[in-house]
Amino acid sequence: MFKRIFLTGFQGAGKTTLGKLISKRLGWELIETDQKISDDSKKTIPEITKNGTDWIQFRSLEHQVLKELLQRENIVIDAGGGMAVNEVFGELNKKLLMDSNNTLIVLLTAPDKVLINRIKKAESIRFGSRPILNAIKARNIQESKEKLSKAKLLKIKIEDALKVLEKRKRLYKKLTDLEIDTNKFSAPNYLNNICVIIGDPIEHSLSPLIHNTAYKALTIDDKYIYLPIRVSKESLEKAIELIKKLNIKGISVTVPLKEEVLKYLNKVEKEAKKIGAVNTIVNNEGILTGYNTDWIGAVKSLVEKTSLSGKNIAVIGAGGSARAVIYGLVKKGAMVKVFNRSEDKAKRLAKKFGCEFGSMKNLQEISDMDIIVNATSVGMNEDKSPIDKKLIRKHQIVFDCVYSPLETKLLKDAKSKGAKIIFGTEMLLYQGVEQFKLYTGLDAPISEMKKALEST
Ligand code: NDP
Repeated sequence: MFKRIFLTGFQGAGKTTLGKLISKRLGWELIETDQKISDDSKKTIPEITKNGTDWIQFRSLEHQVLKELLQRENIVIDAGGGMAVNEVFGELNKKLLMDSNNTLIVLLTAPDKVLINRIKKAESIRFGSRPILNAIKARNIQESKEKLSKAKLLKIKIEDALKVLEKRKRLYKKLTDLEIDTNKFSAPNYLNNICVIIGDPIEHSLSPLIHNTAYKALTIDDKYIYLPIRVSKESLEKAIELIKKLNIKGISVTVPLKEEVLKYLNKVEKEAKKIGAVNTIVNNEGILTGYNTDWIGAVKSLVEKTSLSGKNIAVIGAGGSARAVIYGLVKKGAMVKVFNRSEDKAKRLAKKFGCEFGSMKNLQEISDMDIIVNATSVGMNEDKSPIDKKLIRKHQIVFDCVYSPLETKLLKDAKSKGAKIIFGTEMLLYQGVEQFKLYTGLDAPISEMKKALEST
């Protein structure tokens, strides 16, 4: 059980906005560390840092504040962006945080462009309240005879911020339990209709795009929002606790959590139970029910091109998505053969779903199949295929669950052989359509969601 939340991230990452919402929802006090340092020392930050030319005293005060706050419970800490990653006390602060295992450390991120716009907006309201982060640059400005205009100063500040941000990004990632992308989080005043996708990696996920597009199309985007949260297996327990505490309504689950998440659920719908993996969770006032919509996504993508009954289908993979795909195909009367790098896993899956096992050492037989499905992560953000191109035949349909990139090496190879291809985005669309219904109770605007996917 975590007893406090530590929000970190760069200026403009949304710590204040999200901090306020979370603290309100939990009934916990929100403490902004910069403000506390200022209040305790009765000095402004520019005064303490001598306009950004000397950060040592500030970092020392910040360290003291962190020590004090890590002793307190039921608080949300809106931490200064450099707290755990600065060159003076960063390592010490990081150790304090790592040792405090009842603190949930959440990193907020947004694309650089969004951060810059937010910094500009904040500066237009309170110009100069935040000093330049690079002390040498701040000194040069102070010592320069040139009188700099507001616009020039802002430009320097943003360039400075971007440089520091680049350095901090890697450091932040190592430190945190969860990472929330606040790109689309433009100050909503609700938390109840938040839906999220959890997994790691998460940057490539197109689920936020399709769900947020659907909210817009049905003009419910003032009530619903969908955010990506990076959650590793190690952080899953804390993430589930946060989801329950914040009453996050819908939770999409992706690699590598689809099986792991089962143990945290109160109920599992029968199809998901049979598949043994969950990609969708509905939170009803703390009661978490797991569903699997991946199998529907896979089946719908295929039946748009062909009937499945009696077809010979090779499924490569034995992870979470393979389970769903195999379940759906067998249910529709297909003759499935499972291949996988770890062959014992393929054997177990084949037995579980009453289909055949094929050995990766004897892939030649794939050429005789009607359909080939890649349900491994091979090809995801890389130019690799799980099978040799020479195994693909013109008469076949080749379907890749991987959708990043849209046209994977496997699909490129299949296309060049004259085979019919099905993109992973088709499955993504249809599994998302089912999720949308479960999260909102409404029919999904399929054509708008499809258009959004096609525009990527
Ligand atoms: P899992 O982590 O559960 O399974 C990964 C699978 O890939 C395992 O079979 C694993 O084999 C295999 N694999 C991983 N690396 C290699 C490698 N280098 N060589 C050979 N095999 C490898 O992942 P998921 O099943 O959840 O996801 C798999 C892919 O499907 C991902 O790219 C995901 O994004 C995509 N997906 C797409 C969806 C869509 O809607 N289009 C929905 C769900 C998933 P082993 O058992 O030997 O480790």
